[in-house]
Amino acid sequence: MLSTRLISRSAARPALRSTPIVSSSVLSRWSRGYASSSEEKDLIIIGGGVAGYVAAIKAGQEGMKVACIEKRGTLGGTCLNVGCIPSKSLLNNSHLYHTILHDTKNRGIEVGDVKLNLANFMKAKDTSVNGLTKGVEFLLKKNGAEYIKGTGSFVSENEVKVALNDGGETTLRGKNILIATGSEATPFPGLEIDEKRVITSTGAIALEKVPESMVVIGGGIIGLEMASVWSRLGSKVTVVEFLGQIGGPGMDTEIAKAAQKILKKQGMDFKLNTKVLGGDTSGEKIKLQVDAAKGGKEETLEADVVLCAIGRRPYTGGLGLENIGMELDDRGRVIIDSEYRTKIPHIRCVGDATFGPMLAHKAEEEAVAVVEYIKKGYGHVNYAAIPSVMYTYPEVAWVGQNEQQLKESKTPYRVGTFPFSANSRAKTNMETEGMVKMLADPETDRLLGVHIIGPNAGEMIAEGTLAMEYGASSEDIARTCHAHPTLAEAFKEAAMATHSKAIHF
Ligand code: FAD
Ligand code: NAD
Repeated sequence: MLSTRLISRSAARPALRSTPIVSSSVLSRWSRGYASSSEEKDLIIIGGGVAGYVAAIKAGQEGMKVACIEKRGTLGGTCLNVGCIPSKSLLNNSHLYHTILHDTKNRGIEVGDVKLNLANFMKAKDTSVNGLTKGVEFLLKKNGAEYIKGTGSFVSENEVKVALNDGGETTLRGKNILIATGSEATPFPGLEIDEKRVITSTGAIALEKVPESMVVIGGGIIGLEMASVWSRLGSKVTVVEFLGQIGGPGMDTEIAKAAQKILKKQGMDFKLNTKVLGGDTSGEKIKLQVDAAKGGKEETLEADVVLCAIGRRPYTGGLGLENIGMELDDRGRVIIDSEYRTKIPHIRCVGDATFGPMLAHKAEEEAVAVVEYIKKGYGHVNYAAIPSVMYTYPEVAWVGQNEQQLKESKTPYRVGTFPFSANSRAKTNMETEGMVKMLADPETDRLLGVHIIGPNAGEMIAEGTLAMEYGASSEDIARTCHAHPTLAEAFKEAAMATHSKAIHF
């Protein structure tokens, strides 16, 4: 499905989301939502997450009459409210706390009594979230996109009924309708989520005290990011993962092993190839039965808090899809073609509710492209160059194919690596764990994949993504001057190692 959408690089890249700045007085005027007109819209968007709000802004910029319906009460969806943004606030500040506690003496900095104020720690997160969600509201207004606070559902192929958050309802007619309703956490069968003791990521960004012990079911990105936060704040964390590696199948196995080793050194425990069978929440401690995935000894794990992080599933509940005869695939995804059209061509879908990786930047790219398809008849998303970042410490980031995927598809490749321990900036920063790894075609030298574990990997992967987008060779990168002393020199040196030989290793 996705491969049919691989379109050659042609259109200009859309601008990245930035932090909007707006005064609170201006915002208060719009804070109740601003449903106004009743004329037919060029585009109705159901869902005001990254996919929905970006499409609304873009449609407004294209001069379309657009309305965006969001039921949460704030724009920004999972990403801004309970996902990317709050989790990164907690990751950043817990890293700072951990660094001050454990990594100052050898830097010649003596600190006094260091204390965690969890309430204020959470307040800092809320401040970031509120600023951003309100800023998005301002951007919709600025671009002439109508924002309606309520729950949208299909009445017919061109009509959406909105149950307004403030009471009452309204019905909108649209020439085009975009489903951008996102995703929700996949529940763990047999464990009831209360977001206090048995939690999803939503509970994990809002705990009121640091649990003594936590078991994380699922060693994917959510599991590892949240495990990092609570382990740094003092919890004894055990991650139980069904597969033989952490980080999910996209992460290069060599990098995943390195990440696991570092996280273990930081205090996390791992049980790989292990499946959680069920749990008992009746006692003071939660008891989880686990089993070796390939059939082995059952054991019981105990924890104060259990985080279920076994994946997310598309969310289309209450949308009234039955009223328009729209079917979903076996994983609950809205079925679309290469221009994001459902079987009803003027109804399209982007973001987590449909195919592809559940990532905010993927949703954002699709949102711009879908509006371009509607308005101009063409759009562009290169699914082969969508980066992934895990915001642990150190960060792990990658783009393109990993070594195990190349082996599986019998694609020949050349590999080059460069360790941060040989990079001068990493040395001065005393942050030398990790490496840059590049994979390139042995004949053409074209880059096939970039995998980084190390400080600022999440920023550095942008260079790899740009290189992939432009079809660069490892020699192209190796011959590009990089400033000294920077961590990015490790990127250049890895390219040198792939093309020929690194200088500093
Ligand atoms: P959503 O953001 O889920 O938005 C959909 C919106 O639609 C929701 O606000 C919902 O209320 C609304 N809605 C649903 N049905 C209706 C209806 N009938 N009427 C009105 N409104 C409706 N991705 C990254 O790229 N980087 C990260 O660092 C990252 N971190 C994450 C951390 C966590 C803890 C989680 C859970 C996710 C994270 N993600 C991250 C994934 C990212 O949040 C999603 O990929 C992204 O939010 C998808 O955007 P979306 O607009 O498709 O869906
Ligand atoms: P995931 O699919 O990435 O990982 C879930 C893990 O749980 C898998 O490795 C799976 O093998 C394991 N698992 C499933 N059932 C299990 C069981 N019974 N016992 C033990 N392990 C089990 O899902 P996630 O980590 O929940 O993340 C959901 C989505 O959110 C992902 O698509 C991810 O890309 C996105 N996200 C992205 C970021 C980021 O980009 N930094 C951060 C958070 C979330």
